[in-house]
Amino acid sequence: MTNVALANEVEQLKAAALGYAARHVPVANFSYPPGVRMAVNFTLDFDAMLARRLANEPPMQRAKGEFGGRIGIWRLLEMYEAHGIKVTVFTPGRICELYPEALKRAAGAGHEIADHMWEHQVPKDKALEENHLLKTIAALERVTGRRPVGTRSEHSPALLCREGFIYNSSTSCAYTPLYQDDENGTNRLVQLPVHFAIDDAMYFSANWAGSKTSSQRLLDPDEVFEMWWSAFWHQYKINGYLNFMLHPFVSGRASRVDMLERLIVAMKKLPGVWFPTCEELARHSLSQRPL
Ligand SMILES: [Zn+2]
Repeated sequence: MTNVALANEVEQLKAAALGYAARHVPVANFSYPPGVRMAVNFTLDFDAMLARRLANEPPMQRAKGEFGGRIGIWRLLEMYEAHGIKVTVFTPGRICELYPEALKRAAGAGHEIADHMWEHQVPKDKALEENHLLKTIAALERVTGRRPVGTRSEHSPALLCREGFIYNSSTSCAYTPLYQDDENGTNRLVQLPVHFAIDDAMYFSANWAGSKTSSQRLLDPDEVFEMWWSAFWHQYKINGYLNFMLHPFVSGRASRVDMLERLIVAMKKLPGVWFPTCEELARHSLSQRPL
């Protein structure tokens, strides 16, 4: 590479980094409500077997997904309700056809139901993408009685804003709530960051998505407890935030429900831990600094 070509590449990289920073804006002077030291979101991605069907996985793998809809979601809701915690259930639209009773139960108990695409994927075709989002909004509203205001997806920000969404929870570029603009610097949404380090599927899903890697094995829940406790403790010390990404077909298994419960009991012993839904946290961010 010539010196000129190298200099051009460096300039392009700098421009890309600056552009990214300009579109991902911290919530200036963000603070929690009085008495709150950190927020912890528990989110349940209610995928059941949808992602596994799309990947054409064998019946044995799909059965694991079915467990999430038939049993896992109920167990997790019961556990959270026993501790007075409201969770956010990110739900593909099709799940409304498959497990409406679980969703009605979750909504009736005050948990938030949010969008997670129609069939767990965003079509590249714009008209079809719009069709999927509108179908999902209608399906969720029919089952829960309320329009969703949040999503965990790669849906177009312009479409999301037009339909009244206020937040997305899909980036890993930060660790506290932030604002994200589209590539034109418009259609701003609150982003509630997540990360694979606090995603149950990374630790408890053998052969995830057909992976043959030796790292895709089942971990001891105690080992995951230690990792997640240290993630929590680090954030607790700095007035931070954690957004747990859990899946009922993964975390609905007995030993993992038990591990999550132990985690919650330990967190609740400390003063100032707030367990809002994602919508509550997004609205709190907006109340601090409107879009
Ligand atoms: Zn998902």
